[in-house]
Amino acid sequence: MQIPLTDLQAQYRTIRREIDRAIQRVLDRGQFILGPEGAALERDVAAACGAREGIAVASGTDALELALRACGIGPGDDVLTSAFSFFATPEAILAVGARPVFVDIDPATCNLDPARLDAARTRRTRAVIPVHLYGHPCEMAPILAFARRHRLAVVEDCAQAIGARYRGRPVGSFGDAAALSFYPSKNLGAYGDGGMVVTNRPDVARRIRLLRAHGSRQQYRHLVVGTNSRLDELQAAILRVKLRRLARWSDARRRNARRYAAAFRRHGVRQVELPQEQPGCRSVYYLYTIQLSDRRRVQGALSRAGIATQVAYPSILPHQPALRRWVARSQRFPQAQEASRRVLSLPMYPELTARQIERVVGRIARCLA
Ligand SMILES: *Cc1c(COP(=O)(O)O)cnc(C)c1O
Repeated sequence: MQIPLTDLQAQYRTIRREIDRAIQRVLDRGQFILGPEGAALERDVAAACGAREGIAVASGTDALELALRACGIGPGDDVLTSAFSFFATPEAILAVGARPVFVDIDPATCNLDPARLDAARTRRTRAVIPVHLYGHPCEMAPILAFARRHRLAVVEDCAQAIGARYRGRPVGSFGDAAALSFYPSKNLGAYGDGGMVVTNRPDVARRIRLLRAHGSRQQYRHLVVGTNSRLDELQAAILRVKLRRLARWSDARRRNARRYAAAFRRHGVRQVELPQEQPGCRSVYYLYTIQLSDRRRVQGALSRAGIATQVAYPSILPHQPALRRWVARSQRFPQAQEASRRVLSLPMYPELTARQIERVVGRIARCLA
């Protein structure tokens, strides 16, 4: 029995009829860009995120970039973000001409440590991008207070965390804007690339609608130089089917996280740190990421047993070859570095069964015994 990291075919089998019907509906209608499916998805995703508006775009990376541009971030500006995230976060900062300034993490969540923001701030700092990593929300209260104090824009990177909550409120509702990714493996995944900006600011929404369509509201009249970044109707129709199930799927991921924790306890595995939900936080477990010092040995044993794992991320962002020139040689990120040596993500998806979880944990227990 192979156990994948995530199982999109198993998910498709549970929604096949509705997906196939949704695709057929779009093909019969014959409208493929900026149509009723996208508009309905924007409304429903925004509502799910506690935001007034959603603007669907071509990817999560574009969502971050357009959100920054719409917030007025550009050349000469510094943007604070986590040293431990996917490459797209700093890539979007550099794409608008700004400079990323990295902040070390809190080892408990692997999210940006708010206590380190003050020391990282420069005279040019104009924005902060908290990344809700692995589906666990950032500690938003001190981040928002810091941003307010220094008049900084807040763009949440919600690519891994749609549906997560902080103090009862959904992520994506806290900042000036937030970026979602519909990359296939994400919690709300399309069958291709896709993304969305959600925002409570009408001016930001208006700006992004303009930017994503060549700076044009009226055919062949271009007010600003934008780009082409839109979500197609096929993906929007597919995502609408999946969005109706997202809350149940998030609950199933959380149930599986509890099953993992119970299994680790039952097997008496003490060498492993499990993901811990922090007070006031509700994680949606995009990844179930444990931390351990014997990572290579455990990963090998699991691989031989047909169990997939992943290291997200084996390198911290300031050490990426493409980013080194923006990082001072003297800067250190000890917590992020430690995490990059210790993290290991185990299979996690709504359809994962109790038996499969037992097999994964049993194999780890035997390896560490
Ligand atoms: C996936 C991801 C992105 C980028 O999303 P794409 O849709 O792949 O462009 C950005 N940030 C984080 C943290 C991600 O995990």
